[in-house]
Amino acid sequence: MRVLHVCTEVYPVLKTGGLADVTGALPAAQIQLGCDARLLVPGFPTFFASLREQKLVFELPPRFGAYAIRLYLGSLPESGMKVYFIDAPGLFDRPGNPYFNASNQDYFDNYRRFALLGWMAARVAEGLDVSWTPELVHAHDWHAGLTPAYLKASEFWNQRPLAKSVFTVHNLAYQGNFPGHVFGELDLPSHFFGLDGVEFHHQLSFIKAGLVYADRITTVSPTYAREILRTENACGLDGVLQKRAADLYGILNGVDFSVWNPATDAAIAANYNVRSLAGKRKCKQALQQEAGLPLQDDKPLFCIVSRLAVQKGLDMVLDALSEIVRMGGQIVILGSGDASMESAFRNAAFANPAAVSIHAGYDELKSHRVFAGSDVILMPSRYEPCGLTQLYGLRYGTLPLVHRVGGLADTVVDSTEENMKRGTATGFAFDGFQYESFMSAVRRCFELFAHRREWQRVQRSAMRQHFDWETAAVHYLELYRQIAGHH
Ligand code: ADP
Repeated sequence: MRVLHVCTEVYPVLKTGGLADVTGALPAAQIQLGCDARLLVPGFPTFFASLREQKLVFELPPRFGAYAIRLYLGSLPESGMKVYFIDAPGLFDRPGNPYFNASNQDYFDNYRRFALLGWMAARVAEGLDVSWTPELVHAHDWHAGLTPAYLKASEFWNQRPLAKSVFTVHNLAYQGNFPGHVFGELDLPSHFFGLDGVEFHHQLSFIKAGLVYADRITTVSPTYAREILRTENACGLDGVLQKRAADLYGILNGVDFSVWNPATDAAIAANYNVRSLAGKRKCKQALQQEAGLPLQDDKPLFCIVSRLAVQKGLDMVLDALSEIVRMGGQIVILGSGDASMESAFRNAAFANPAAVSIHAGYDELKSHRVFAGSDVILMPSRYEPCGLTQLYGLRYGTLPLVHRVGGLADTVVDSTEENMKRGTATGFAFDGFQYESFMSAVRRCFELFAHRREWQRVQRSAMRQHFDWETAAVHYLELYRQIAGHH
């Protein structure tokens, strides 16, 4: 089946978060299963700089404020994955972050920039590239949310069926809502602006467009798929989601083992595997050295690799820091985002230089060293659609300590006495976003760490977990077949 993934980021070329890991790995896993998958992305400068074998497919008249519009086809450097990208001078050719300007402000014309992405997906589905037309279009997150709407608009205008679509919500809180009056600029049928369409409290909502017009909706873990049907987790979209509950699926993300594997990872101080953990000790020492922390191994080294955002619950870690330090723990933070949170961690590091170290920024290679060198990864997220870093933690024998929500609930097995006996424990999970629940998990973590044999047993079952992309790709393919009429 020919599948077009529509998204804004793809690892390894452009990544600001977990979405890029997904769009970098899922299409490749689908190709392994015999699917003919390609991607469509905005022509951000890094795509121009990195994609190979670029060729012009089609040139279209200007619209959405671009001076010209050209569709190119290229391929990803290592995998050779085919990627369509949209050259739109005036819209995408801006350096830095794809979504904000240098002062972290959303670009005022984001609705045009990402409308063009969805609009172009519909043109590709209509056959803009005569040599390749998708049978299924898979749009990711709000940036690609108008894709299903443009597909349905084309069917409405041309009275001819087009590719079916799947819309995946990677995070319901990021919605792409804009003033309602911009709808007039988007070339959609006027009746699409209504309660059963893209209107959301008099605004235009990209994510709602995806939720309303896609043939199927998916999100990235089974638990999150259930959670978002409840008003308190639905970010205002419960009505829409409940209406479409029968078409909503939760498919767990996976780990790209070619990138995340402590046995072969070239970025870490020493390789190790489930049978021989000696290398992990070297990685811990190397990380302590790199972070300017004293070498010690009688207490756990915690880590955070995360966007510094309210979602991630790191304010709770800040509250708990002095207690963790008092118990002898150390903590390494690799994060970027919220400036006040960053400075709070900086202050904590300044006050406790032997226990707390922060590297503010986004650093892919360093993240490998942090995962490999730590004992525990902290993820007390308020909500978590899937979460990838706990999966990387499991893989690297770095036990996740998580709030039992969303994908965290689906992937981490708490070290209760019973689970320890059964040999199924892989980390620590707490219920209820409260300081005491979190701290009791932290204390259990210190206790288990003091029993090294037990700790290593849990580490080994963590490392044996196999959350792979092949399983996810099979689930997506089943879904595609349901709607595209393939058997
Ligand atoms: P989200 O997509 O909500 O940010 P995920 O856990 O799904 O969270 O994915 C985050 C991805 O971004 C992971 O690959 C993680 O390693 C990476 N990441 C997050 N922060 C940093 C950072 N400061 N430096 C390097 N990688 C980071």
